[in-house]
Amino acid sequence: MSHAEQLLNSIPTDIWIGGKQTAASTGERFAVLNPASGEQLATVADATSSDALAALDAASAVQASWAATPARERGEILRRAFELLSARSEEFALLMTLEMGKSIRESRGEVVYGAEFLRWFSEEAVRIGGRFTAAPAGNGRILVTKVPVGPVLAVTPWNFPLAMGTRKIGPALAAGCTVLVKPAEDTPLTMLLLGQVFIDAGLPSGVLSILPTSDAAQVSGPLMQDDRLRKITFTGSTRVGKMLVRSAADRLLRTSMELGGNAPFIVFDDADVDAAVDGAMLAKMRNGGEACTAANRLYVHNRVREEFTSKLTSRIEALSVGPGDTDGTDIGPLINAKQLATVSALVDDAVSKGARVRTGGHSLEGKGFFYTPTVLDEVPQNADLVRDEIFGPVAAIIGFDTEDEAISAANDTVYGLVSYFYTRDLDRAMRVSAALDSGMVGVNRGAISDAAAPFGGVKESGFGREGGSEGIDEYLETKYVALQ
Ligand code: NAD
Repeated sequence: MSHAEQLLNSIPTDIWIGGKQTAASTGERFAVLNPASGEQLATVADATSSDALAALDAASAVQASWAATPARERGEILRRAFELLSARSEEFALLMTLEMGKSIRESRGEVVYGAEFLRWFSEEAVRIGGRFTAAPAGNGRILVTKVPVGPVLAVTPWNFPLAMGTRKIGPALAAGCTVLVKPAEDTPLTMLLLGQVFIDAGLPSGVLSILPTSDAAQVSGPLMQDDRLRKITFTGSTRVGKMLVRSAADRLLRTSMELGGNAPFIVFDDADVDAAVDGAMLAKMRNGGEACTAANRLYVHNRVREEFTSKLTSRIEALSVGPGDTDGTDIGPLINAKQLATVSALVDDAVSKGARVRTGGHSLEGKGFFYTPTVLDEVPQNADLVRDEIFGPVAAIIGFDTEDEAISAANDTVYGLVSYFYTRDLDRAMRVSAALDSGMVGVNRGAISDAAAPFGGVKESGFGREGGSEGIDEYLETKYVALQ
């Protein structure tokens, strides 16, 4: 039996309801595919609304006792989960590569990144503060405390099956909230294995449930209508995020929304071009381009455009495309046939409007959902990919002549997650980072994610922050007690 088969035979594939593996109430299961072959990897229990409500029963029953558990103890459970997850790094990495497609090297990187949220928030749990002041009028005292929001629903996407979960579970548990996780239907296996890690770390039963389902709305709908649920935290598309905010309004449910991006990546003529190429490789090709932080539009000053484009093209041409678990693979398949069709259509549209293909520009024949790493130059402003997230290994280059022109083009989007730029001029670095309308800015850096930093967007990229000292606030309410 291969290593992959052994792993797939050993992982939990039922629903985690309050710490126990449970079949779906209907007995139904759904298939999880390997995007490198299109073949079935496993089947998992298909949670229904009644399974979701059973998980909420379990969460509500222990919400008060979990909130009252000393912060140090909550932190220690998270710390143990960090250590157990890190010790099982190879299993998690292989599982993620199998169900999501990314290269094993990228998966290993995600285990380190994803685990770090558990360690970071194990440390933040004990720093939940408050304040105490005398009322200015001298007629009493003001005590401000922080209390957990209550049971939280966390809905996660397929592109980072582990980290998008730990980024929510870590701070929620640290804050004293119980959590129900609804992982993406394409990649539920990684989250189900994480459920085992939390059991092994000693998380009390009821505190965490994991609800894989082929019908997300069937699970999220009844939970969001139930008075006991107090918050939804979502990472995914802007389209679904807007729907969830609308239904959250019915009960004024607290919401955090980490939504789509359309990141500009600007290379000024005073940039270190080689460093900018390194940065673009990270910002564009990390996770095969399937990242909300992916550089979607590369604005390059016309004086350095040819140098940058030809250097980037040689680097991108040298990437090896194949199944993520094959040695030496840089770029794995896209997640599914729909995503492959979306990327192909965006490239074809740009080319039909005048973009020049420097390399790539087509899907690969055969099994799996592969698209060749691509560089498009002279991309016209009216190409759809200037407006829409590509979510694939396609670098779209657009020339510019002035700083003002670059900034207004960069900000000309409904999104505002992250922007990147390269310059060696300190004044420009300060000026441009202030002018870019996004929640995060990378200056001479192509990767910005860090568990210790507040990750999140503005405009239609959503609201709320994950990571940093800010990340735990999303799961806390402020409570004021007036004292005599
Ligand atoms: P998606 O919105 O289709 O799905 C995300 C999650 O929402 C999945 O778990 C899905 O099952 C669930 N979902 C879908 N319809 C739902 C409904 N009606 N009710 C409740 N849940 C529903 O997005 P995706 O294709 O999985 O992920 C890609 C998107 O996620 C991209 O737009 C990307 O930019 C975004 N993303 C954002 C961040 C960030 O932090 N800002 C990080 C990663 C990905």
